[in-house]
Amino acid sequence: MSRFFSSKYKSLEAYTPGEQPRDMKYIKLNTNESPYPPSENVTRAVKAESERLNLYSDPESRDLTQVIADRYSVGYENVLMTNGSDEILNFAFMAFCDSQKGIAFPNISYGFYPVFAQLNGLPFKEIPLAEDFSINVEDYCNIGMNIVIANPNAPTGLALSLDDIEKIVASNPDSVVIIDEAYVDFGADSAVGLTKKYDNLLVTQTFSKSRSLAGARLGYCIGDEKLINDLNTIKYSTNPYNINRMTSAAGIAAIESDKYYMDNCKKIAETRAYTKSELERLGFTVLDSKSNFLFAKPDKIGGGEYYLTLKKMGILVRHFDKELIKDYVRITVGTPEQMKALIEATEKILGGN
Ligand code: PMP
Repeated sequence: MSRFFSSKYKSLEAYTPGEQPRDMKYIKLNTNESPYPPSENVTRAVKAESERLNLYSDPESRDLTQVIADRYSVGYENVLMTNGSDEILNFAFMAFCDSQKGIAFPNISYGFYPVFAQLNGLPFKEIPLAEDFSINVEDYCNIGMNIVIANPNAPTGLALSLDDIEKIVASNPDSVVIIDEAYVDFGADSAVGLTKKYDNLLVTQTFSKSRSLAGARLGYCIGDEKLINDLNTIKYSTNPYNINRMTSAAGIAAIESDKYYMDNCKKIAETRAYTKSELERLGFTVLDSKSNFLFAKPDKIGGGEYYLTLKKMGILVRHFDKELIKDYVRITVGTPEQMKALIEATEKILGGN
């Protein structure tokens, strides 16, 4: 830390992204990317747009916003496009929380939530999950705080029903409830429809997972027009050109080939089922994931040891040191071939074969 670093941030613990090592070629199952490439029309659109990089991008991202509004049957004024969904989450923490109005989220969830709260100097409350890692809906009803819940949750992969989400949203009419649907396309029910009924619900989604564009950085949120206007105030006070030209072109083209991506999601759900049953055959406890990753606990060795041994064998998964989940690893669902390699490596580690 330099002696110039603002006292505001001295105790800030930054988010740690999944590792991206370069020492060898890994089967990468640690950051929940799609194993499938972008569709051909996406790469074509990006190449064509690259010729116009001398010009600023459209600060309103009008074409892209309209495409998303049409795709989700909401109004243009209900959508805001952002640089990954991380950006929209930060905007929402900035826009709707303050020293009086903090934010609550599960104690085991996306690691960026406490970081955004600390970055913005906001009070926050981490609500414990139940022993089986599920969210106890009652804990979030009538709490008078803003709320952010990943649905499906990460790293557990467990999803709440729409009824449960509606209960939470309806019982906190004076707070903003953010439902982070980064993984929704892999099997959970989206709360986008509820945004028409509740003016305090904001749903965030991303192109990073189901639409194979993690490297392009594209996210969005859907909610009441007034919420979107507030978020725009933050956007225009930080980064008006937050979506670059190539990313915008990629997003529009990706929605044009929506079937390709939704078919990939189905493939990933099938590969998830295969991997879960194979891991269970090898003695793992595996949660019932609705996302593109599995949260799994080996029965014979610790989560940390399993992660490290897999890494030596060229397979990267994600391990968290947090006490409550240190026996588990989070495994991104890749192609069937990648998952076969994971199972074979696991059999070797556990001495099964
Ligand atoms: N929410 C959750 C639950 C995530 O796991 C991630 C991915 N790290 C994000 C949001 C952010 O994704 P992105 O910024 O790539 O859209």
